Amino acid sequence: MRRNLVVGNWKMHGSKAQISELIRLLKTGIREVGEKVEVGLCPTHLHIDLVAGLIEATRIKLGAQNAYLKESGAFTGEVSVSMLADYGVSFVLVGHSERRELFGDSDAIIASKFLAAQHFGVQPILCVGESLQQRQQNATAEVVLGQLDAVISATGIGAIAKSVVAYEPVWAIGTGQSATPDQAQEVHKLIREHLAAKNTDVARQTRIIYGGSVTAGNAKKLFAQADIDGGLVGGASLQAEEFISICKSAG
Ligand code: PEP
Repeated sequence: MRRNLVVGNWKMHGSKAQISELIRLLKTGIREVGEKVEVGLCPTHLHIDLVAGLIEATRIKLGAQNAYLKESGAFTGEVSVSMLADYGVSFVLVGHSERRELFGDSDAIIASKFLAAQHFGVQPILCVGESLQQRQQNATAEVVLGQLDAVISATGIGAIAKSVVAYEPVWAIGTGQSATPDQAQEVHKLIREHLAAKNTDVARQTRIIYGGSVTAGNAKKLFAQADIDGGLVGGASLQAEEFISICKSAG
């Protein structure tokens, strides 16, 4: 049985004071979220230590938004997975569309980051998704499965079961225009069938979460879809009440 997962991606937001207040509210709100729902937060690297301390002794898990693919060395400005693990990070986003588009994270780099994460015991959340233009050209399946296969060919299919796949249509991220539950389910099903063609156990075990303008208003219907196992939440995760409501929808 797959456990639903809701992860907040704070992106490059938050001051120390804002984060402390947000976590204070989340710590109260999380009591209303069903125990079966796994909840995580991805602050900036700078705020990892602060958040680690604030969520100590709660069921909220700590994630990171990115990591470098090498363990250590002359890589100015980068942070390695082993450093994140040292701070109690349990999962890391790899291949977020903002990393692909703005920071040049190629399929090969993403596969290396995925491998580095698993090597250091940090669960990768592999983000895949098509642009609006690609959707309009009916290339969604090709793009999404291509991004997935780029990792599988480097890691083998078995590694996918120990990761999370996040389907995030680029046109839905930060736009307020979420995919409809049917649109999202169609792609989630496609991903699961693609995995099943390689290994049915992996397909059954792998959590596939949806991201792209998830709100308290649309989460329940999205999470009710057969192949949607929770959400990756950007903007709405910065507001405690909204994020808790989304988490409750996954329970
Ligand atoms: C994201 O950053 O992964 C995301 C889905 O953002 P938003 O919820 O704001 O669309």
